[in-house]
Amino acid sequence: MSYAKVLGVGLVGVTGHLVEVEADLSPGLPAVVISGLPDTALHEARDRVRAAVVNSGQRWPNRRITLNLLPATLPKYGSAFDLAIAVALLGAAGELPLLPVEGVVVLGELGLDGTVRPVRGVLPMVTAAVRAGLDRVVVPVGNAAEAAVIPGVRVRAVDTLHRLVAFIRDGTPLLEPPPPAPAEAAAGPDLADVAGQGLGRRAVEVAAAGGHHLSLLGPPGAGKTMLAERLPSILPELDDAAALEVTALHSIAGILPPDGRLLRRPPFQAPHHSATVASLVGGGSGLARPGALSLAHRGVLFLDEAAEFSKAALEALRQPLESGQVHLTRARGGTRYPARVQLVLAANPCPCARPGGDTLCECSPLARRRYLGRLSGPLLDRIDVQVRVLPVRAAELMGTDPDGEPSAAVAARVVAARGAAAERWAAVGHRLNAEVPGPLLRRPPWRLAAQATADLRGRLDRGSLSARGFDRIIRLAWTIADLDGRTRPDQEDVREAIGLRTGEEA
Ligand SMILES: [Zn+2]
Repeated sequence: MSYAKVLGVGLVGVTGHLVEVEADLSPGLPAVVISGLPDTALHEARDRVRAAVVNSGQRWPNRRITLNLLPATLPKYGSAFDLAIAVALLGAAGELPLLPVEGVVVLGELGLDGTVRPVRGVLPMVTAAVRAGLDRVVVPVGNAAEAAVIPGVRVRAVDTLHRLVAFIRDGTPLLEPPPPAPAEAAAGPDLADVAGQGLGRRAVEVAAAGGHHLSLLGPPGAGKTMLAERLPSILPELDDAAALEVTALHSIAGILPPDGRLLRRPPFQAPHHSATVASLVGGGSGLARPGALSLAHRGVLFLDEAAEFSKAALEALRQPLESGQVHLTRARGGTRYPARVQLVLAANPCPCARPGGDTLCECSPLARRRYLGRLSGPLLDRIDVQVRVLPVRAAELMGTDPDGEPSAAVAARVVAARGAAAERWAAVGHRLNAEVPGPLLRRPPWRLAAQATADLRGRLDRGSLSARGFDRIIRLAWTIADLDGRTRPDQEDVREAIGLRTGEEA
């Protein structure tokens, strides 16, 4: 036999597609030709596979070798096809009977010495295999725990090409994946650690309940970062579909913990203000790495000192925030990664960033306006909750204030509020208040009583509030009512919403 094929998986965004790796040997000058939209890494597979095969004690067929990866229209990235190529090639050369790996997906990169190295994206690859009706995969030992997370598939691991050859030839058993890791530890830092900060805590709770973006403005030391870091602790756990999606993105980025488990907590990403556009949105050669935006998918993207981010970086966030996905332009067709994040911005009110706040600030009013102006166009416009946080008073720090409710208690209210909103908006296809379009909120049956919105309409007429701002305040009022367990926002809710949106005292 001079032809053989083995199954692999290629990724397009977070979605895996089954790929047939074909090898054909024909008489002629010894050469290796690869077809089927390979990238550079895949072209280099020729050299890796040859060295690995020879160094594993196998005979390299000195004939003309054609490798083809189907479907040809699917772009293929990276080195995860190495192992499938090696096996297909040895099969075509008649060195191996391929019956034992028929219907088995084979994934892994080969080192020159024949070791099998872990690859990025194994979790979505295995998901694709299961979806295609296959129930057996062979993965690098370094990815075995991750692969075993997916139900309905028998995972076997290999550390060397030699081990896989021995299995195919004489049934020598492969390696078993490790037992499943215990569930993820409880969510990071707790709100109970935040002293005082009544308004800040309320802002975080409202943001969590309605899925609203949040900005925290205040001097250094006011606890903005502490508040932001605790937002995930009051968000509900991810459901199965979201957990798979989030874990797949982290798998493609190659940053899953080695013990392999589904990420159940909403992720938290806090890129530094010196972050490049690529590290924010994703990129790189070969299989594109998801950026902070996608790693925060279904969780929180925190931009601390937001006004210090480059203009290009802030601009790059605009489109993904709107569409919920990142589109990366690639040489051979684009890649899309999901990026549905809850954005939290923190900023100092001015460039001097004096810890005392306004009293010690020496910046001119123009400098202050300019500083925050950097945020206004692209981002602030999209942010429902905008509050000022003040330095914590000594009394609060010493624990004489009754605040400091733990995250679990707040999370319970958030879950209930989200449930109420999801039920209300189900008929119009939304789940969170932040997602509901303005026109819908202004029409019956959702339009609020004239009395409740009197102040708001006055502001609109005087021009001190934009139409968009009006809608944002109404959305917030719904969230406040949901948190309070009432079916409709009243005048008080609207008043609090105005405070959360404009920073005015309620
Ligand atoms: Zn200043």
